[in-house]
Amino acid sequence: MEPPRIELSSDTQTRPTAGMREAMANAEVGDEQRGEDPTVNALCARMAELMGKEAAVFLPSGTMANQIAFLVHCRPGDEILAEERYHVINLEGAGAAALAGAFVRPISAPRGIFTAEQLEARIRKPRRETPRPRVVTIEQTVNFGSGAIWPVEAIHEVAAVARRHGLLMHMDGARLLNAAVASGVSAASYCEAFDSVWLDLSKGLGCPVGAVLAGSEPFISEAWVWKQRLGGAMRQAGVLAAAGLYALAHHVERMTEDHDNARLFAERIAGLPGVHVAEPIETNIVLFDINGMTAEALVNALAAKGIRLDAIDTQRLRAVTHLDVNRAQVEEAAAAVAEIMGG
Ligand SMILES: *Cc1c(COP(=O)(O)O)cnc(C)c1O
Repeated sequence: MEPPRIELSSDTQTRPTAGMREAMANAEVGDEQRGEDPTVNALCARMAELMGKEAAVFLPSGTMANQIAFLVHCRPGDEILAEERYHVINLEGAGAAALAGAFVRPISAPRGIFTAEQLEARIRKPRRETPRPRVVTIEQTVNFGSGAIWPVEAIHEVAAVARRHGLLMHMDGARLLNAAVASGVSAASYCEAFDSVWLDLSKGLGCPVGAVLAGSEPFISEAWVWKQRLGGAMRQAGVLAAAGLYALAHHVERMTEDHDNARLFAERIAGLPGVHVAEPIETNIVLFDINGMTAEALVNALAAKGIRLDAIDTQRLRAVTHLDVNRAQVEEAAAAVAEIMGG
């Protein structure tokens, strides 16, 4: 199959740029699992500082970052609280159950952002026969909440409830830097209330591989045990970490373009017949619902024009902007939706 000309299905679909490839080619390397890769060590130090934590560990993926955090935090039978649309519930093969033996109890909240009251109501009173609540997870930004940003005050309110009940706080920060760039709030401020946080290199940052998990020294030291156990320890991984360092220097501020492009796409399609933009656009993700045809039919009609979006439900689609899609392409994609929907 021909690759699409205009790729809006995910911000994971970027190719490393020439500058990034050059940085990768020139990376100093060593044995990562012995702690001897200078580029990985530099990336981890930078990321720990960025997220305001003592230490960090480089991992192959964000999924592994979530799972390792749960493995460190939980014992079998423990309960993790998360919003029902989060990645940890829907897209990690029930990893928390399969690996940590933890039960994920969903909370339902608009755009995936629950309140302190909602959390309080969902925390079970300690009883021998109930699961033991252990971790509260939030997603920054909320992927299936149209990239909504968890406001820093809302995080602190939720964290206060969690602390009062002796629970730990975990952030799935796959798109943490989109939140920081869009709001002007520092990544470290967003991370302050958390025991564990991670961000993805392979989303808006445009790297081919990797995620970085951060926390206290003792947490990261335990995370390393699980990284080794799960086969996540690497060797000359500096070539990958170099992409991350390059992205921190070149691909952070530019995310405002992605956010502008997402808003532009949403504005262009919002008034079309049979199209309803589900939620306000704060970052790089647009969710929209259609009627008159299925989401799959629209995906196929767009594919015929070389444009790729994702159907995420029978009537709902997702468009994600990123480094490899420019304003003109976003305009073309919106015009194609208009033509197909009869706008
Ligand atoms: C992509 C994503 C993950 C998983 O990251 P991978 O690097 O793809 O394993 C987890 N959470 C959210 C919110 C994501 O968008």
